[in-house]
Amino acid sequence: MSIIKLHDKYFKSYISEKLIHEAIESLVKQVYKDCKNETPLFIGILNGCFMFVADFVREYNGDCEVSFVKLASYEGTKSTGKIKQLVGVNENLEGRTVVILEDIIDTGNTLQEIYEIFKDKKLKQLKIATLFFKPDVFKKELPIDYIGISIPDKFIVGYGLDYNGIGRNFASIYQLTKKPTMKNIV
Ligand code: 5GP
Repeated sequence: MSIIKLHDKYFKSYISEKLIHEAIESLVKQVYKDCKNETPLFIGILNGCFMFVADFVREYNGDCEVSFVKLASYEGTKSTGKIKQLVGVNENLEGRTVVILEDIIDTGNTLQEIYEIFKDKKLKQLKIATLFFKPDVFKKELPIDYIGISIPDKFIVGYGLDYNGIGRNFASIYQLTKKPTMKNIV
């Protein structure tokens, strides 16, 4: 097991590249089975999804389109509070099959925002795929169509996911851990 330090926190190796890629292969098979007669539009939710989407679409062996959006929040009026907006949805989505590719679903708040935004777009269907899922903290009634790897409620980094801006470039996943007592910290 290797331990790394990012800012003030320690992370231990947790999910290997091999396991991540096996999970993606399985997700691709399920999505392909459901979408093979269509040209789905895969939409990645930035920033964390970039590695997942790149590997997912390379594995996907059918016609598809790929796009990315970012969920930005801005201050609304006092009564509306923070308003969420998807930046980057330019295509006309009417009648399309859209598959959202999420890096991780935790409480489901982000997913809820995404549902709210896409529900007015007259899609043929909206499917949700997530690479990582924390079932113990997910609080919504919303359907998640495809789940890669379910994990406990512990913070992870790597494979696109960051801790305060760093760690996104790691090819595998690390999990938050206590300060180690051993000397071999890399
Ligand atoms: P939500 O709670 O809305 O489902 O998750 C919101 C966002 O929090 C995710 O899209 C992701 O950016 C971030 N997040 C949730 N859990 C983790 C985690 O374990 N590690 C990292 N790096 N980000 C997380």
